[in-house]
This record gives sequence, structure tokens and C-alpha cells, in this order.
Amino acid sequence: MNKKSVKDVEVRGKRVFVRCDFNVPMKDGKITSDKRIAGAIPTIQYLLENGAKVILCSHMGKPHNIFTEGFGLTKKEKKAVEKLPVEEQAAAKEAYLAKAGEDQKKLTLKPVADRLNEYLGNKVTFATDIIGEDAKAKVAALKEGEAVLLENVRFDAREEKNGADFAEALASMADLFVNDAFGTAHRAHASTEGISHYIPAVSGFLIDKEITFMGGALEAPKHPFVAILGGAKVSDKIGVITNLIDKVDTIIIGGGMAYTFVKAQGGKIGNSLCEDDKLDLALELIAKAKAKGVNFLLPVDNKCAAAYDNDADSVTCDADKVPDGYMGLDIGPKTIEIYSNAVKDAKTVIWNGPMGVCEFENYAGGTRAVASVIAESDAISIVGGGDSTAAIENLGFADKITHISTGGGASLEFLEGKELPGIACLQDK
Ligand code: AMP
Repeated sequence: MNKKSVKDVEVRGKRVFVRCDFNVPMKDGKITSDKRIAGAIPTIQYLLENGAKVILCSHMGKPHNIFTEGFGLTKKEKKAVEKLPVEEQAAAKEAYLAKAGEDQKKLTLKPVADRLNEYLGNKVTFATDIIGEDAKAKVAALKEGEAVLLENVRFDAREEKNGADFAEALASMADLFVNDAFGTAHRAHASTEGISHYIPAVSGFLIDKEITFMGGALEAPKHPFVAILGGAKVSDKIGVITNLIDKVDTIIIGGGMAYTFVKAQGGKIGNSLCEDDKLDLALELIAKAKAKGVNFLLPVDNKCAAAYDNDADSVTCDADKVPDGYMGLDIGPKTIEIYSNAVKDAKTVIWNGPMGVCEFENYAGGTRAVASVIAESDAISIVGGGDSTAAIENLGFADKITHISTGGGASLEFLEGKELPGIACLQDK
């Protein structure tokens, strides 16, 4: 995958539309973590320093489509209201309208513009609409090295529907499209894909990094290549396992999803998490791995609890001998040793999903141990998924990881080998 980035095209004097991921957590009108804003700064800074006129665009949350559907009810809400008894309808309608007004207040990108100015030295203005009069006037007034942030793009219903008229209107404000929002690259929305039908499209530095490291690992990995997959459900990771079986030397399975494999092979799993409709598939995946000569590692022991509770009675036992009434909540010490040894000599490691219920202090050990051994290894390491990333960051290992992927769903689809619309639409080198 060889896609052009901002560095491969002329940006001076051009109006450059940059799709960012400013979907930051907010509380009481304040940004509680600006990691995503900080992550976007290198691309924006590069464009400003190289004389571009920068138009910044992002979504935040799941707002009402107040620009297209006003403060009226959406079709879905209208239907929901109509289903209610007549005497309850007026109050329900009022509640929806009040929510739309609150959404606009809570999900405006204005606080993001303020934060951007702290990073960039007051070079960013804020438009109170997306393709309306204010946006047009502020874009027209842009000088080289200045930026405008448009209002929350999901205030317009046509964004998520990838409406052609909306995408064209976005494109008409700019000469070049830069996609730097990896978290939404798996969605074909107007500002992530539709716009590329009208103006040339290239990646920003964040997406370029995802393509370089994740794409590189999948296309030409250094061996031994080890994939570590955890989390709650097998069904979420089937696509990833299937795609990786053709590429890796070892697949390590942990977390709740391991028990479906253990049960499929005849093990006793007590009350552990299990997807009974995936037992046959689990056996198929094990057989496929064997046929391809892939080392498929499952837990040999685990820490179990008498209830889904950090403080419930706990026992460590073989993974296929979970006592009745107990559930496996973390991998055990023997498994940690086997998994650590498998990672030690790897040249490429991909990790997505926790080894246990890492939210519970008593069952976070397996996830932390995996985070540590990856951080210590010399392998090219790629980590994705909220829990795995949090484990790495909480342990202070972020700078020991080659690449921490910024997109949850997008990361998984990338690892599944799917084409992401927000990347496929970028120009080839
Ligand atoms: P995922 O979103 O698929 O990556 O799954 C993450 C979730 O899986 C976390 O909230 C963990 O608590 C949960 N999880 C991991 N291992 C287990 C387990 N053995 N039993 C129940 N839940 C688990």
C-alpha cells in the first residue's frame, strides 16, 4: 500500500481540507483529554509552515443533525413518538427537542478551536457552520499559514450518509483533501471518502504512520511474526485471526475469547465466557493454523473467580479444568511464561485485546505481563485496541512501542485485511 502523503504534493498557497479526529472526551464543556488534538498537530503545523490555507474538519460524538433537520425531530424520533400513547407524545417530543439543543451546546467544536490555538499560537478561527455563510466567509478570508475549524460535521445528516451534494460542497471550499482521521477511515462518509471524488486526496502524518507500520507488518513482516489477540469475544476477532493465519508464525489467544477454544477442545470452563455458536468455528481455526504450520497458543492455566467481581473467591487452575461455579478472568502464571517466551524472540508483534478482565486489579496481571514483554522486546511492535493501549500507557511503555494505532474499529478492519474507504480513496504514489 503506497499512498501519497502531504509531503508528496505542493501545498503552498493551496486551500487544504484536513479531516481530523477531534472526537475528544468532554465533561461540562471542558476537554478531559486532548491526546487526539495533540496527535493532529504535526500535520496541521506542517501545512501552516508550508504556506497552506488550512480548513479543519472533524466530528464529535453522535449529535442530532441540527443543520439539516433543524431542531425538529429526526425521522427515527418521530416514529418513536408516534408509537407512544397520545397523551405521552407531547412530552416525549419536548424531551427530544431539548436534547437536540443540548447536543449543539455539548458537541460543538468551539472548545477544540480554543485548544488548537493554544498549540498553534492563535492561527485558527472557528466557523459556526460547516458549508454555510460563516464557513464560506472564513475560508475566503484565510491567508497562507492560517486555519479555520468548521463546526461538527455530523451536525449535518448528509455527512454519515455520504451525500454527494454535501461532499461536493465540502470539496468546493478546497483544492486538496488530506485525510488524517484514522479512527473514521473505515467509514465512507462525506468528509472521509465522498470529498475525494472531487479534489485530489492524500494522507496526513497520522494515517501515513498507520499505513507504514500496520500495512508494512501485514505486507512484508519480519519473522518470527507473533500476533496476540485477546478481549471478550471470538466473534469480534474471527476476521483478524483468519487474515493473520496466512501471515504469522504464532497466534496467541487470551481473554474471554480463549474459553470458546478451550471448550471446543473438550475442556471444562465452568461459567467462563463462551460463544457456543462458535465452537465449530474455533475448531476450524485451530485446524487451519495447524495445517499452515502456525503455532496456535491457548492458555494452559488461568485465574478464576467465583463471581464476576474483583474480590470474589479466587483460584488458579488448569485452563481446561475450571471448577463448577467459577469463571476464568485472567491467564495464569504458566501461561504468562509460555506467552512471554513466544514474544521474546519475535521480530514483529501485533497485539490487540486484553488477556483478562483488566478493569479488575486482581485480574489485570496477564495483560500487564504481555504489555511488559512486548515493551522489552526488540521486535517491531504494533498495539491497538483501548484496553491494550491503556495497559501500555499506564505502565509508561508507550515510547517502547513502535506504533500505537489510533483507531479501534478501523485498526481491526485493517488487520482483517479489509480495504478502508478513507485510505483506499487516497492517491497512489
Ligand atoms: P474487547 O472489547 O473485545 O477488546 O474486549 C475487552 C473486554 O474483554 C474488557 O472489558 C475485558 O474485561 C473483557 N475480558 C477480557 N477477558 C475476559 C474474561 N476472561 N472474562 C470476561 N471478560 C473478559
